[in-house]
Formats: sequence, C-alpha cells, structure tokens
Amino acid sequence: MRIGVLAMQGAFREHRIMLERLGAEVREVRRREELEHLHGLIIPGGESKTISQLLRKTDLFDVLREEIQGGLPVFGTCAGMVLLAKEVVGDFPPTLGVMDIVVRRNAFGRQVESFEADVEVPALGPEPVHAVFIRAPYIERAGTGVEVLATYAGRPVLARQGNCLASAFHPELTTDLRLHKYFLAMVSERSGK
Ligand code: GLN
Repeated sequence: MRIGVLAMQGAFREHRIMLERLGAEVREVRRREELEHLHGLIIPGGESKTISQLLRKTDLFDVLREEIQGGLPVFGTCAGMVLLAKEVVGDFPPTLGVMDIVVRRNAFGRQVESFEADVEVPALGPEPVHAVFIRAPYIERAGTGVEVLATYAGRPVLARQGNCLASAFHPELTTDLRLHKYFLAMVSERSGK
C-alpha cells in the first residue's frame, strides 16, 4: 500500500522509516499531485501554525480536506492532531476540521515542554506504549462519534473517528511499530490492500 507523509515541515522522515519497516511504499507529499492515488496519509508533528500556513500557500489545504472527508485514512501526530481538529482553543489559523475534537495546544504546561510516559492503549494490547510528548496538545472535548483510545493524566491523547486517527505524542520517535501498524490496518480496511 502507498502511504503519503505530509512533508511541509516537521518530523516526516521518522514516519517514513516506520512505514517502510512495515512494508508500505511511502511518498513525501509537498504538492497537490502527490496526494493522488494514496491509500493513506500521515500528518506529522512540527509546528501546526506553520503547517497550516504552508498547506494554504501550496493549495493543498482544500484538496486534502476533501480527500479526508471522502474517506482517505489519515493519522495526525502532535501538530498533526491539531490540524485535524475542528476547533483549537485560542487564536489559531484554519484547521482541516475533519475530527470532532477540540484541542488545546502546548497543553501540558511550559515547565514540562517534553516528557515521556508509559500510556495504556488497550487497542494495541497489554504492553503500554512508551509515549514521547513534545509541547504536546491534548483533546479537551471529543464528540460522541470519537473513540478515545488512550488518556494521560486524565486527558485524551489518542483518538479515532472513522478514517481519522490522532495522537498527541510521537510514536515515530520510538521503535514501537504498533500504532503505525494499527493505522495500516485502518488503511487496509478501506482499500482492501
Ligand atoms: N505545540 C506544537 C504545535 O501545536 C506541536 C509540537 C509537536 O508537534 N511536537 O504546533
């Protein structure tokens, strides 16, 4: 299966490596044409405001939103989660708004810019996920159609709604392939690949 990794800015190379380890064909996406014929897409961590700006500047914003609304499986990590949200607390440029979640940015406080924690993710099995949080957002509110897959400190940090998966942490910065594998299972559910 062919998976795109949005490569405007941020931690896209690490996602590429994880996906290739799992046998996917990976394409970095910077232009509209590169969105064509994909079975799934990852929106990486980085600086969500910058990614929003670049998406609009490169004319990718509307096509990408339409593709996701049309069912393209998408996995947003950290800044990627912010971009998928229908609402961001505070002043923020447009998001894709495809997930019924309200997200708070840099939500775990300035004193703890980055931290790591073991997070239970029952959907991935009994072994917790070692989650790397870097100026991470959390989900402040989630609509009824959203399935919360993990919480940390009482806050949802991993959630799925239909073809959209979002994590506040960075699975691509560890060697644990389970979340990428989970996403690829979402992709094959849809594309039969
Ligand atoms: N705080 C950043 C943002 O909202 C996200 C940080 C990250 O992706 N590691 O853009």
